[in-house]
Amino acid sequence: NKRVLDLNLHLFVEQKQLLGISYDLSRVRQLEKMQKDFVGNVSHELKTPVTSLIGFTETLLDGAMEDPTITREFLTIMEKDAHRLERLIQEIIQLSKTDEAQTYEWQELDLTALYQQLSQSFQHLLQEKQLDLKIEMPQPINWRTVRELFYPIVKNLVENALQYSPENSQVILRSQIRPDGQLEIQVSDHGIGIDQEDQKRIFERFYRVDKARARNSGGTGLGLAIVKDYTEKLGGHLTLDSHPKVGSTFTVILPPEDK
Ligand code: ADP
Repeated sequence: NKRVLDLNLHLFVEQKQLLGISYDLSRVRQLEKMQKDFVGNVSHELKTPVTSLIGFTETLLDGAMEDPTITREFLTIMEKDAHRLERLIQEIIQLSKTDEAQTYEWQELDLTALYQQLSQSFQHLLQEKQLDLKIEMPQPINWRTVRELFYPIVKNLVENALQYSPENSQVILRSQIRPDGQLEIQVSDHGIGIDQEDQKRIFERFYRVDKARARNSGGTGLGLAIVKDYTEKLGGHLTLDSHPKVGSTFTVILPPEDK
Protein backbone atom coordinates (compact mmCIF):
# COMPACT_ATOMS: atom_id res chain seq x y z
CA ASN A 1 0.00 0.00 0.00
CA LYS A 2 2.80 2.34 0.88
CA ARG A 3 4.36 1.67 -2.52
CA VAL A 4 1.09 2.51 -4.24
CA LEU A 5 0.84 5.66 -2.19
CA ASP A 6 4.44 6.61 -3.02
CA LEU A 7 3.80 5.97 -6.67
CA ASN A 8 0.66 8.07 -6.60
CA LEU A 9 2.49 10.85 -4.83
CA HIS A 10 5.28 10.64 -7.34
CA LEU A 11 2.84 10.80 -10.23
CA PHE A 12 1.08 13.71 -8.62
CA VAL A 13 4.32 15.67 -8.23
CA GLU A 14 5.32 14.89 -11.79
CA GLN A 15 1.96 15.99 -13.08
CA LYS A 16 2.27 19.26 -11.22
CA GLN A 17 5.72 19.82 -12.65
CA LEU A 18 4.46 19.06 -16.13
CA LEU A 19 1.62 21.50 -15.65
CA GLY A 20 4.18 24.06 -14.51
CA ILE A 21 6.25 23.52 -17.62
CA SER A 22 3.30 23.75 -19.97
CA TYR A 23 2.19 26.90 -18.19
CA ASP A 24 5.67 28.38 -18.71
CA LEU A 25 5.60 27.41 -22.35
CA SER A 26 2.26 29.07 -22.95
CA ARG A 27 3.60 32.21 -21.24
CA VAL A 28 6.63 32.12 -23.54
CA ARG A 29 4.35 31.70 -26.56
CA GLN A 30 2.19 34.56 -25.36
CA LEU A 31 5.26 36.80 -25.01
CA GLU A 32 6.48 35.72 -28.44
CA LYS A 33 3.10 36.61 -29.92
CA MET A 34 3.12 40.01 -28.22
CA GLN A 35 6.59 40.65 -29.57
CA LYS A 36 5.51 39.65 -33.09
CA ASP A 37 2.36 41.78 -32.90
CA PHE A 38 4.43 44.73 -31.72
CA VAL A 39 6.92 44.44 -34.58
CA GLY A 40 4.01 44.04 -37.03
CA ASN A 41 2.29 47.13 -35.65
CA VAL A 42 5.50 49.16 -35.68
CA SER A 43 6.15 48.26 -39.33
CA HIS A 44 2.60 49.14 -40.31
CA GLU A 45 2.56 52.43 -38.40
CA LEU A 46 5.93 53.50 -39.83
CA LYS A 47 5.04 52.49 -43.36
CA THR A 48 1.94 54.67 -43.59
CA PRO A 49 3.65 58.08 -43.29
CA VAL A 50 6.69 56.91 -45.31
CA THR A 51 4.50 55.75 -48.22
CA SER A 52 2.68 59.06 -48.13
CA LEU A 53 5.97 61.02 -48.09
CA ILE A 54 7.32 59.08 -51.09
CA GLY A 55 4.06 59.52 -53.02
CA PHE A 56 3.92 63.28 -52.54
CA THR A 57 7.62 63.74 -53.28
CA GLU A 58 7.27 61.82 -56.56
CA THR A 59 4.17 63.75 -57.60
CA LEU A 60 5.93 67.05 -56.88
CA LEU A 61 9.01 66.02 -58.85
CA ASP A 62 6.84 64.78 -61.72
CA GLY A 63 5.59 68.30 -62.33
CA ALA A 64 3.13 69.24 -59.60
CA MET A 65 5.83 71.60 -58.31
CA GLU A 66 4.98 74.00 -61.17
CA ASP A 67 1.86 75.00 -59.25
CA PRO A 68 2.75 76.91 -56.06
CA THR A 69 -0.67 76.32 -54.45
CA ILE A 70 -0.44 72.54 -54.89
CA THR A 71 3.18 72.59 -53.76
CA ARG A 72 2.23 74.35 -50.53
CA GLU A 73 -0.69 71.99 -49.94
CA PHE A 74 1.50 68.90 -50.46
CA LEU A 75 4.32 70.24 -48.31
CA THR A 76 1.88 70.86 -45.46
CA ILE A 77 0.78 67.22 -45.57
CA MET A 78 4.40 66.08 -45.83
CA GLU A 79 5.33 68.13 -42.79
CA LYS A 80 2.56 66.43 -40.83
CA ASP A 81 3.77 62.99 -41.95
CA ALA A 82 7.34 63.84 -40.96
CA HIS A 83 6.21 64.98 -37.50
CA ARG A 84 4.19 61.79 -37.12
CA LEU A 85 7.25 59.71 -37.97
CA GLU A 86 9.36 61.68 -35.53
CA ARG A 87 6.83 61.13 -32.75
CA LEU A 88 6.45 57.43 -33.50
CA ILE A 89 10.20 56.88 -33.44
CA GLN A 90 10.58 58.87 -30.22
CA GLU A 91 7.80 56.90 -28.50
CA ILE A 92 9.05 53.53 -29.72
CA ILE A 93 12.47 54.40 -28.26
CA GLN A 94 10.79 55.46 -24.98
CA LEU A 95 8.97 52.11 -24.81
CA SER A 96 12.06 50.08 -25.53
CA LYS A 97 13.87 51.36 -22.44
CA THR A 98 14.35 48.33 -20.27
CA ASP A 99 16.42 49.83 -17.45
CA GLU A 100 15.17 49.62 -13.90
CA ALA A 101 14.33 52.90 -12.17
CA GLN A 102 17.31 52.50 -9.81
CA THR A 103 19.74 52.92 -12.68
CA TYR A 104 18.35 56.38 -13.54
CA GLU A 105 19.25 59.66 -11.91
CA TRP A 106 16.95 60.49 -8.98
CA GLN A 107 16.44 64.11 -8.11
CA GLU A 108 14.10 66.33 -6.15
CA LEU A 109 11.48 67.94 -8.37
CA ASP A 110 9.49 71.04 -7.49
CA LEU A 111 6.09 70.00 -8.88
CA THR A 112 4.77 73.58 -9.10
CA ALA A 113 7.60 74.55 -11.44
CA LEU A 114 7.36 71.31 -13.39
CA TYR A 115 3.61 71.67 -13.98
CA GLN A 116 4.06 75.28 -15.06
CA GLN A 117 6.54 74.12 -17.64
CA LEU A 118 4.10 71.43 -18.75
CA SER A 119 1.27 73.92 -19.06
CA GLN A 120 3.53 76.18 -21.14
CA SER A 121 4.23 73.36 -23.57
CA PHE A 122 0.47 73.03 -24.20
CA GLN A 123 -0.21 76.76 -24.67
CA HIS A 124 -0.99 76.30 -28.34
CA LEU A 125 -3.55 73.54 -27.80
CA LEU A 126 -5.07 75.32 -24.78
CA GLN A 127 -5.65 78.46 -26.84
CA GLU A 128 -6.82 76.65 -29.94
CA LYS A 129 -9.56 74.77 -28.05
CA GLN A 130 -10.16 77.44 -25.41
CA LEU A 131 -9.36 74.92 -22.68
CA ASP A 132 -8.60 75.63 -19.06
CA LEU A 133 -5.87 73.54 -17.47
CA LYS A 134 -6.30 73.88 -13.72
CA ILE A 135 -3.45 72.84 -11.47
CA GLU A 136 -4.50 71.88 -7.95
CA MET A 137 -2.05 71.22 -5.15
CA PRO A 138 -3.15 71.63 -1.53
CA GLN A 139 0.45 72.46 -0.62
CA PRO A 140 3.76 72.79 -2.50
CA ILE A 141 5.36 69.42 -3.21
CA ASN A 142 9.01 68.52 -3.70
CA TRP A 143 9.16 64.93 -4.85
CA ARG A 144 12.25 62.75 -5.30
CA THR A 145 11.88 60.86 -8.54
CA VAL A 146 13.36 60.22 -11.99
CA ARG A 147 12.51 63.16 -14.18
CA GLU A 148 12.72 61.30 -17.49
CA LEU A 149 10.13 58.79 -16.26
CA PHE A 150 7.96 61.14 -14.19
CA TYR A 151 7.53 63.94 -16.76
CA PRO A 152 6.27 61.73 -19.64
CA ILE A 153 3.70 60.13 -17.31
CA VAL A 154 2.08 63.45 -16.46
CA LYS A 155 2.60 64.90 -19.93
CA ASN A 156 0.90 62.01 -21.74
CA LEU A 157 -2.08 61.97 -19.36
CA VAL A 158 -2.61 65.73 -19.63
CA GLU A 159 -2.15 65.67 -23.39
CA ASN A 160 -4.82 62.96 -23.75
CA ALA A 161 -7.19 64.80 -21.42
CA LEU A 162 -6.84 67.94 -23.56
CA GLN A 163 -7.04 65.99 -26.81
CA TYR A 164 -10.23 64.11 -25.93
CA SER A 165 -12.02 67.11 -24.33
CA PRO A 166 -14.56 69.33 -26.05
CA GLU A 167 -13.75 73.01 -26.63
CA ASN A 168 -14.25 75.39 -23.73
CA SER A 169 -13.93 72.72 -21.08
CA GLN A 170 -11.67 72.22 -18.09
CA VAL A 171 -8.95 69.70 -17.37
CA ILE A 172 -7.71 69.36 -13.80
CA LEU A 173 -4.23 68.17 -12.79
CA ARG A 174 -4.34 67.41 -9.08
CA SER A 175 -1.44 66.30 -6.88
CA GLN A 176 -1.15 65.57 -3.21
CA ILE A 177 0.87 63.53 -0.77
CA ARG A 178 -1.42 60.97 0.82
CA PRO A 179 -1.38 60.21 4.56
CA ASP A 180 0.54 57.00 3.75
CA GLY A 181 3.34 59.07 2.18
CA GLN A 182 2.58 58.15 -1.43
CA LEU A 183 2.18 60.75 -4.15
CA GLU A 184 -1.19 60.82 -5.87
CA ILE A 185 -1.53 62.46 -9.28
CA GLN A 186 -4.96 62.79 -10.86
CA VAL A 187 -5.84 64.01 -14.31
CA SER A 188 -9.56 64.62 -14.89
CA ASP A 189 -11.42 65.72 -17.98
CA HIS A 190 -15.01 66.22 -19.10
CA GLY A 191 -14.29 64.63 -22.44
CA ILE A 192 -15.64 61.77 -24.53
CA GLY A 193 -14.90 59.12 -21.88
CA ILE A 194 -14.04 55.46 -22.48
CA ASP A 195 -16.47 52.53 -22.26
CA GLN A 196 -15.83 49.46 -20.10
CA GLU A 197 -14.67 47.22 -22.96
CA ASP A 198 -12.11 49.73 -24.21
CA GLN A 199 -10.90 50.50 -20.69
CA LYS A 200 -9.47 46.98 -20.58
CA ARG A 201 -7.38 47.59 -23.67
CA ILE A 202 -6.30 51.23 -23.87
CA PHE A 203 -3.01 50.56 -22.06
CA GLU A 204 -1.96 48.13 -24.80
CA ARG A 205 0.57 49.35 -27.32
CA PHE A 206 -1.05 50.89 -30.42
CA TYR A 207 -4.60 50.40 -29.13
CA ARG A 208 -6.87 53.30 -30.04
CA VAL A 209 -10.61 53.47 -29.53
CA ASP A 210 -11.24 55.43 -32.70
CA LYS A 211 -8.28 54.89 -34.99
CA ALA A 212 -9.13 57.50 -37.60
CA ARG A 213 -9.88 60.19 -35.06
CA ALA A 214 -6.81 59.45 -32.97
CA ARG A 215 -4.55 59.44 -36.01
CA ASN A 216 -5.90 62.77 -37.21
CA SER A 217 -5.19 64.29 -33.84
CA GLY A 218 -1.60 63.03 -34.06
CA GLY A 219 -2.13 60.11 -31.65
CA THR A 220 0.07 57.03 -31.96
CA GLY A 221 -1.64 54.71 -29.47
CA LEU A 222 1.61 54.46 -27.49
CA GLY A 223 1.06 57.23 -24.93
CA LEU A 224 -0.79 55.19 -22.32
CA ALA A 225 1.50 52.18 -22.78
CA ILE A 226 4.39 54.51 -21.87
CA VAL A 227 2.44 55.90 -18.89
CA LYS A 228 1.80 52.39 -17.56
CA ASP A 229 5.34 51.19 -18.17
CA TYR A 230 6.98 54.23 -16.51
CA THR A 231 4.56 54.18 -13.56
CA GLU A 232 5.47 50.56 -12.90
CA LYS A 233 9.19 51.33 -13.31
CA LEU A 234 8.76 53.87 -10.51
CA GLY A 235 7.10 51.19 -8.37
CA GLY A 236 3.65 52.76 -8.66
CA HIS A 237 0.28 51.85 -10.09
CA LEU A 238 -2.43 53.39 -12.15
CA THR A 239 -6.22 53.38 -12.09
CA LEU A 240 -8.90 54.72 -14.38
CA ASP A 241 -12.42 55.88 -13.72
CA SER A 242 -14.23 56.78 -16.91
CA HIS A 243 -17.76 57.10 -18.26
CA PRO A 244 -18.67 57.67 -21.90
CA LYS A 245 -19.83 61.25 -22.63
CA VAL A 246 -19.08 62.23 -19.01
CA GLY A 247 -15.30 62.17 -18.75
CA SER A 248 -12.28 60.36 -17.39
CA THR A 249 -10.03 60.48 -14.35
CA PHE A 250 -6.65 58.77 -14.47
CA THR A 251 -4.96 58.31 -11.08
CA VAL A 252 -1.28 57.52 -10.63
CA ILE A 253 0.02 56.50 -7.20
CA LEU A 254 3.78 56.59 -6.66
CA PRO A 255 5.60 55.37 -3.56
CA PRO A 256 8.44 57.45 -2.12
CA GLU A 257 11.95 56.51 -3.23
CA ASP A 258 13.03 53.14 -1.92
CA LYS A 259 16.16 53.81 0.12
P1 ADP B 1 -3.15 58.16 -28.48
O1 ADP B 1 -1.81 58.56 -28.96
O2 ADP B 1 -4.04 57.61 -29.57
O3 ADP B 1 -3.84 59.18 -27.63
P2 ADP B 1 -2.87 56.63 -26.04
O4 ADP B 1 -2.13 55.36 -25.79
O5 ADP B 1 -2.42 57.83 -25.29
O6 ADP B 1 -2.83 56.86 -27.60
O7 ADP B 1 -4.39 56.36 -25.75
C1 ADP B 1 -5.02 55.21 -26.31
C2 ADP B 1 -6.48 55.49 -26.61
O8 ADP B 1 -7.21 55.66 -25.38
C3 ADP B 1 -6.73 56.77 -27.39
O9 ADP B 1 -6.62 56.58 -28.76
C4 ADP B 1 -8.14 57.13 -26.97
O10 ADP B 1 -9.05 56.39 -27.76
C5 ADP B 1 -8.23 56.62 -25.54
N1 ADP B 1 -8.01 57.70 -24.54
C6 ADP B 1 -6.86 57.99 -23.89
N2 ADP B 1 -7.04 59.00 -23.02
C7 ADP B 1 -8.34 59.36 -23.11
C8 ADP B 1 -9.16 60.36 -22.45
N3 ADP B 1 -8.65 61.19 -21.52
N4 ADP B 1 -10.47 60.42 -22.81
C9 ADP B 1 -10.99 59.59 -23.73
N5 ADP B 1 -10.27 58.64 -24.38
C10 ADP B 1 -8.96 58.53 -24.08
